Amino acid sequence: MSAPVDERISDEIEALEAILLDDVVIKKVDGIPKIIETVVHPSTGDDVDQQYVCVTLEVKLTPKYPEDSPDVALRNPRGLDDETLATINSQITKRLKECAGQSIVFELIELIRENLTESNLPSGQCVICLYGFVEGDIFIKTKCYHYFHSHCLASHLIAGEKYYQEELDKLPNWQQVQAPPYKQTCPVCRCHVSCDVEALKRAPHPVESTTAPPFSLTAELKALQKHMAALLARQIARGGVVGMGDTGPPPLTITTASDNEDEATNGATCSTAPPPKPPAARPAVKDSSSERDSAPGSPQARAPYKGPYRGFNRRGKPGRRPRGAPR
Ligand SMILES: [Zn+2]
Ligand SMILES: [Zn+2]
Repeated sequence: MSAPVDERISDEIEALEAILLDDVVIKKVDGIPKIIETVVHPSTGDDVDQQYVCVTLEVKLTPKYPEDSPDVALRNPRGLDDETLATINSQITKRLKECAGQSIVFELIELIRENLTESNLPSGQCVICLYGFVEGDIFIKTKCYHYFHSHCLASHLIAGEKYYQEELDKLPNWQQVQAPPYKQTCPVCRCHVSCDVEALKRAPHPVESTTAPPFSLTAELKALQKHMAALLARQIARGGVVGMGDTGPPPLTITTASDNEDEATNGATCSTAPPPKPPAARPAVKDSSSERDSAPGSPQARAPYKGPYRGFNRRGKPGRRPRGAPR
């Protein structure tokens, strides 16, 4: 059963769905539309690759909409600085006042789209090299609307794959087979991306990196280096740096229950083994849980318990006689 919906709202939603198709989401409660959500992009014709900015428009319909203005929020801005967002928000507030009593969602979409079209340039810095985007730069926008100099993203993806491979090589063969394949990820939000690294690699270095003054070791930097070197030496001396140097036992060793048993039985052979890496530790946990899973009914589960908690019942109280046991 659905409650009657104001005809003006149902007309507006019908039009939105007809024009925006899958790009608009109508959230309903008990059949009544409550929230209209759509991602607004700049007008670039059909050229999606030229859209560098976007924002999600969320319109919460108030109980008396359209007589009362809806609650409007902009979410997940991409490529927009705070100033641009503030401008759009103030224009929205003004438009809501002007159009009180009318269906407003199309108006809002158009207003935002105009602003985005004006601001359709990547702003801020490339998070990989920290240089800005200037004329002559070749950059790429990922599907999650983050953008980087193509050259920088290529370096990031190549380094990411190399690191993955190095970590994979450290695992035993049976784990290598089970490991999930390498996936390219966005350095900002870790969304999966699929880029042609070879094509990205051919892009030139960021313009600002080539025009920046050559690096020189100033007195200030030298003092900082000296300070940091002393700090590192102190941390190494205290065993606070993992993976530095080959002498001495590792300062931190991750062990599992089974490791302890092995160590107890095998003694010195285990203490010389390298510390297990986190990925290697995972299957050990899995193994013990599979043992637990298989425990009911297995001969091991029925083996008489001879541990220190003999005599405790399930609630942990001592002394209760097991059923059928002699008094
Ligand atoms: Zn860059
Ligand atoms: Zn991203």
